[in-house]
Amino acid sequence: MPYYYLQTPDNLQRILQRIEQEIYTPVATLQVEAWITPEPVTFAERQTGTHKVLAIGENWGKLWDCAWFHFTGTVPAVAAAKHVVLMIDLSGEAAVVDKEGTPVLGLTTVSSTFDMSLGRPGKHIMPFSKHAQDGENVDLWADAGCNDLFGAYADSGIVKEAHVALYNETLYNLYHDFAVLHELMTQLQPEKARYQRILHALNKAANELSTYNTEEAQRAREILAPELAKKNGTPSLHVSAIGHAHIDLAWLWPLRETIRKGGRSFSTVLAMMERYPDYIFGASQPQLYQWMKKYYPALYKKIQLRVAEGRWETQGAMWVEPDTNISGGEALVRQILYGMRFFRDEFGTTPRMLWLPDVFGYSAALPQILKEAGIDYFLTIKISWNTFNTFPHHTFFWQGLDGSRVLAHMPPEGTYNSSAAPRAIVAAEKNYADKVVSEYCALLYGIGDGGGGPGSEHLERLAREKNLDGLAPVKQEHMETFFERLAQDSSEYPTWNGELYLEKHQGTYTSQARNKRFNRKMELALRELEFILTLAHLQIGHPYPTETLDTIWQEVLLYQFHDILPGSSIQRVYTESLARYQHLLAQTQELLSQAQHALIQQTTEQTYTLFNTLSWERSTWLKIDRQWRYVTVPSMGYITLDLGLLATRTAEIQLTASRKRLENDVLRVEFAADGSMQGIWDKEYQREVLKPETSANRLAVYDDDGDAWDFSYSYRERPPHHFVLETVSEQIDGPQAIIEQQYRFGDSTLQQRIVLTRGSRRIDFITHVDWREQHKMLRTSFPLAVAATEATCDIQFGSIKRPTHRNTSWDMARNEICAHKWIDISQWEYGVALLNDCKYGHYVTESLLDLNLLRSPMYPGLNADQAEHDFTYALFPHAGNHIQGGVIRAGYELNVPVNIVTGTATASATAGNEQSLSFARIAAENVVLETIKKAEENDDIIIRIYEAFGATTTTTLSLAMTVQTIWQTNLLEVPEKELEHSEHSVEITLQPYEILTLRIHKR
Ligand SMILES: [Zn+2]
Repeated sequence: MPYYYLQTPDNLQRILQRIEQEIYTPVATLQVEAWITPEPVTFAERQTGTHKVLAIGENWGKLWDCAWFHFTGTVPAVAAAKHVVLMIDLSGEAAVVDKEGTPVLGLTTVSSTFDMSLGRPGKHIMPFSKHAQDGENVDLWADAGCNDLFGAYADSGIVKEAHVALYNETLYNLYHDFAVLHELMTQLQPEKARYQRILHALNKAANELSTYNTEEAQRAREILAPELAKKNGTPSLHVSAIGHAHIDLAWLWPLRETIRKGGRSFSTVLAMMERYPDYIFGASQPQLYQWMKKYYPALYKKIQLRVAEGRWETQGAMWVEPDTNISGGEALVRQILYGMRFFRDEFGTTPRMLWLPDVFGYSAALPQILKEAGIDYFLTIKISWNTFNTFPHHTFFWQGLDGSRVLAHMPPEGTYNSSAAPRAIVAAEKNYADKVVSEYCALLYGIGDGGGGPGSEHLERLAREKNLDGLAPVKQEHMETFFERLAQDSSEYPTWNGELYLEKHQGTYTSQARNKRFNRKMELALRELEFILTLAHLQIGHPYPTETLDTIWQEVLLYQFHDILPGSSIQRVYTESLARYQHLLAQTQELLSQAQHALIQQTTEQTYTLFNTLSWERSTWLKIDRQWRYVTVPSMGYITLDLGLLATRTAEIQLTASRKRLENDVLRVEFAADGSMQGIWDKEYQREVLKPETSANRLAVYDDDGDAWDFSYSYRERPPHHFVLETVSEQIDGPQAIIEQQYRFGDSTLQQRIVLTRGSRRIDFITHVDWREQHKMLRTSFPLAVAATEATCDIQFGSIKRPTHRNTSWDMARNEICAHKWIDISQWEYGVALLNDCKYGHYVTESLLDLNLLRSPMYPGLNADQAEHDFTYALFPHAGNHIQGGVIRAGYELNVPVNIVTGTATASATAGNEQSLSFARIAAENVVLETIKKAEENDDIIIRIYEAFGATTTTTLSLAMTVQTIWQTNLLEVPEKELEHSEHSVEITLQPYEILTLRIHKR
C-alpha cells in the first residue's frame, strides 16, 4: 500500500463526532418554570397545575405527568449578531407552541431508548434568530409529556437542557457532508476507486480541522464537494422515499398521549417543510387527523394546505391501521368506508393504496375488499419480520380468497423507520428480492412507532443522496406515484395467493381476552342494530340515528388499531377501552331495544315477539317467560307468539344428565372422573367422535413465559398442568341436559356449564373463569377420530384451508392460527367443528382441535387478563365436511341468538295466531347476508351478501319491500350497474367467495 493516511475510517468517525460537538455552543441558561398536571390541559389552562421553578438537573414529574413549560431569558452580548438557537431537553417529549398555543415544533429527549441503529430520535434544537440582538428576549411555551417515545423509561422527568446557544451552520453542513461520504465509503469495498477517493478526500478535509471554526469547516467542505457531486451512470434501481412518523394510536402509552404525539410530530413535519423544499411526507389514519382537527385546528389547516400543495400524502385508506386477523369483515369494510369518506370530505383525496406497514398478518379477504373499494395497491413491511421463513418477494401481486389481486410492495429495507442514510439505501438494494423484474423500490424514513418523524438529519442526508455515485438514486415522492410507476411494467411480477401470514406475534390472537370479546360483541350488536333500525325506519318511519351510529362505529374501529385489539398495549389502554366498550355496548343495546319496541304495537300478557337477524329461518328451543318452547323464526325478521295459544311440546325423548354422562337423541357424551370427556358417541351415524383412549376438553394450563405478542414455539414440549375438578352437579332443564363442573387451579377458579339440547349436535361449554395466573396459558383440546391434511378456518367473508401437518418450514411456522367463529376438520364423510363466541387462537394437527382460551403475559400490559372472563365454545360433530355439515350456519347461530321482546309486532303478514315478517330471504344456502343498513348518503337500503362455500351461484334475494331500483355497487356504495328485478325480488349471480353490495331504492 503506497499511500498512508493520517486517518483511518475509525479515526474519521471520531472526527465526525468532534465536528458534531462543535456545532452548538451554549452561551446562556434559560429560566424554567412549569405547571404540572396528571392529564393534559389546554393552552388556556396552562397555569393551572402544580407550579415549579426548575433548574437544570431538577426533576419535574413522574411517568405520564403533563406540564406546560415556560422558558424565559435574554440573548447575551456574546451572541449578538450571531445565528442563535435554543437547546431544550426535558427528558420527555414536548411541543413548542406559538402565541395561540398551536404546536410549531416537536421535541424529543436525546436520551430516548429508541433503537439507535435506525437513527437518533433526539429533537432538541429550536430555531431562534439568524441575527440575534444583544439582550433580545426569549419567551417560549411548551406542552410536555413525562414519557419516552416508547412510554416508560428509567430516568424520567429531569430538565436536562434549557440554553441559548450559538449555531454554526457551516459546521452543521460539514457534519452531514462528512457523515454521508464516510458512511457511503464504509458500505463499499476498499478496492473500489470510489472508496479510495472518498477516503482521500475525508483525510484531506480532516487535515483542515484544528480549532473547528467556520473558516476551517468551509475549506473542508470545499474539499469534499467534488466527491458529493459525483453522479451515477444509468442506474438499475430507483428508490422512492417518503417521510413517515409511525404513530401507533395507543401502545406503550395511552390514547390521550397519541393526540399530543400527533401535534408534536406533525408540527415538526410542517416546520421541516419550510426548510426543505423537496420534503414529501405521508400520514395515514383519519382518526389521527380528526384529533388534529379537534385539538389543533390551526395546525390542521396547515396540513390541509400542504396536502393541497402535494407535499403531504393522505395515505389510505382505513380509519385506523387495524389488525386484520381479528377484525370482522364488515368492520374492515367500515374502516375503508369511514377512512375514504374522511379523506374525501376533508382533503378532496381518494386513496388508491392501503397503508398497513405494521399489522400482524393480513387476511385473505383483504384483496377483494380493497378492489371493491377502488384500491389497487397495498403497502406493508411486516411480513419481513417472519421468524422461520424469509418471505420471497417485495414486489408482487397479492391474490385473495376470491381471486382479486392488488399490487403489493414491502420496502425491502424491512423497516418503516429508515435512517435514510447510505446504509439504508444499500440495504434496500441488497435485500430487494424482486430487483430482477423491477427497477423501483420504496423507502420510509423517519423516527417512528412513538411518532417523532423525520428530523433535519434525514432531510440533510436525502439532499445529498438524490444521485450520489455508489448509491441508488433517491427521490422523494408520494407512495401512490411510486405504485403507479411500479404498476407500469408488471408483466413479470410474481403472485402470492392467499393470506399473508406473519410468522410472529401469534399470542396476539388471545392476549387481552376481554377486549377481543367486546370487539366481537360490538361487531355483532351493530350488525343487529343496523338491520332492526332499517326495518323500523322502513315500516314505521322510526328515526335512523346515522350520526350516533357513525360515532359508535368509529370508536369500535379505533379499538381495532393494531396494538389495541391484538392485546399488545399497556394496561391503561385496556382499562380505558373496556370501560368505553361497556358504555358502547349498552348504548347499542338500548338503541336496539328502542327500535324493536317501535316495531311492537301492543303488549298483551302472554305475547312475545322473537327477532332473528340471520338470513335463514331458524328453528330452536327457547326459554320464554320460564317456559321452554320450540319455535321457528323467519329469516331476517320476526314472529309474534301467543304463549297461551302455543302448544307446549313435551319431551318425547329421554335426556340424560349425570356426573358421567350427558345424552340427547343425537349424541351421548361420557365423562371421566377428572371432568374431561372420554367419549362422544354419535347415535345417528353410529360412530365415535373422539380418538380412542384420549380425553377431550381437559382444561390444560401451559407455562407461557412470553409477552403479549409471543409465546414459545415449543410450549407443548413441557407437559401442561390441569384445572382440578372439585364439584359436579347435573340437571335436566326442559330440552337441555346440563352438567355443571367447578374447577380450581392455584388461585384461579373455573365453572363450566356443559349443555346438550334436544335435537342438537352442538355441545356447548359455557364458561366462567376467575383467572389469577401469571405466565400461564389456558387451552382446551379435542383429539378427534377424524383426520385430514387441512383444517378449514372461518375468516372474514369466507373461509380458508390451512395445513394440519408440519411438512415444511412454512407449515411448521403456522403453529398457532387465527380463525373467527369456527374451525373444522373433516374427512370425506364426517367432520367436527369447534365453534366459539369470542376466541381466535387455534392449534391444529391432523386429528386435534385445540383452542387458546386465555393467556396471562406481564408485558406490556402488567397482569394482563388477570380478571373474570366469560366465553362459550362448542363442539359440533357433523356428517360430511364443513359445508354439508352446516358449520357456517352453526357458527353464526352460536354467536347471534334469537332476541325475545314482550309484545305483538306490527306485521305485514298474518297467519293464524302468528304475526311474522321475513324482511329478506336468500334461496341459496351458500349465500349469507352480512349487512342491512341505510345508505350513507340517502334513504336507500344497502344489503351486503357473500358467497360462503366457494361456489358459483345464481339465486334469488326476496325482500319485504317494494323495489323501485336495485343497483350493484362497490363497497363505498357507489352504483356500478342496475339490476333487473321484480317488485319484491332480484336474481343475482355470485362467484366463489364474492362479496356483493346492493343498493335498493324503494318505491
Ligand atoms: Zn404500529
